Amino acid sequence: MMKFVDLQAQQERIAGELREAVARVLAHGQFVMGEEVEAVEAELGRFCGARNVISCASGTDALLMALLAYEVGAGDAVLVPSFTFVASAEVVQLLGATPIFVDVEAGSFNMDAGRLGEAIEYARGAGLRVRGVIAVDLFGLPADYEAIGEVARAEGLFVLADSAQSFGARRGGKMAGTFGDVSATSFFPAKPLGCYGDGGAVFTEDDGLAEVLRSVRVHGMGGSRYEHVRTGITGRLDTLQAAVLLCKLKIFAGELEAREGVARGYAEGLGGVEGVVVPRVGEGCRSAWAQYTLRVERRDELREFLGGRGIPSAVYYPVPLHLQGAFRGGWREGAPGLGVSEGLAGEVVSLPMHAYLEEGEVGEVVGAVREFFG
Ligand SMILES: *Cc1c(COP(=O)(O)O)cnc(C)c1O
Repeated sequence: MMKFVDLQAQQERIAGELREAVARVLAHGQFVMGEEVEAVEAELGRFCGARNVISCASGTDALLMALLAYEVGAGDAVLVPSFTFVASAEVVQLLGATPIFVDVEAGSFNMDAGRLGEAIEYARGAGLRVRGVIAVDLFGLPADYEAIGEVARAEGLFVLADSAQSFGARRGGKMAGTFGDVSATSFFPAKPLGCYGDGGAVFTEDDGLAEVLRSVRVHGMGGSRYEHVRTGITGRLDTLQAAVLLCKLKIFAGELEAREGVARGYAEGLGGVEGVVVPRVGEGCRSAWAQYTLRVERRDELREFLGGRGIPSAVYYPVPLHLQGAFRGGWREGAPGLGVSEGLAGEVVSLPMHAYLEEGEVGEVVGAVREFFG
């Protein structure tokens, strides 16, 4: 049966290297901060052009570490899109700060920079100190960092790029890992670059911030091991996961090309179909295609129809964050509207997307969607 994400085909392709890499770690026994961790940080930096790479235990920890480095806490507000994965806003609330939700653009699924002003005004009116913006590169497409950065600079806010879904993506000559003041990615297995468990990384051009992030990663360590100068976490990436990532990075550029080919096939096949809106990638941008997400009419019926043909699909995300119970405290009547996020939740459907999807399979998906709307 067709797979939504195929990790098996990739594993078979690099099985020999993976086995050797894991065997090397088992032999040297440095399971925490072994040499592979430093090596993968260097390779990640080379790949995306980031000056400082701080690997860590998950994408969520990467976001959390960035907020800890900025000392975000009670009384602070951070602006977050409502249409995203829960982790983007969860980390804000975990630190006792308030996520202020901002609506997204229907065309890009990303934060609408034009809506930041009213969200800032609302947060300040509620007595909160607005500290920063978390922009999310949803489905692998970079957010509008030029427009968001302009507002952030004028208001004295930091920009944290949640690039959990977009490692490998590009915008305006820059690659994910170099957006904003600091950025975070995830190596969860199903992300474009995944390991075999949880993993993540923080990136920044700011050497001072990088030093703070390295301290935050190990319990706020100071100059020596049992000196603690700030609140931190146990945020390290396992050496075994670093070894896996080193193997996968070697084939990652080719996999991004293959994903692009799948996206092209979908766009050509579905671009003109009535009732379907295909994702558009703006001028000068490349998506990492973490997901290929359509906006469609009769979404749930379509999914049932595809399922009947053995075609898997998924809904990212069925409920925007401001309507989730976990965020009841952060959004109230009188806050800026989030109508686009609410509308998208009922329209989106993601199609199978991975580097090992065959042309025939793309054709099968296209044929089925066309038949449904035919
Ligand atoms: C996956 C994801 C995260 C969290 O990454 P984990 O490695 O699963 O902790 C954060 N933000 C977004 C947008 C994600 O998709």
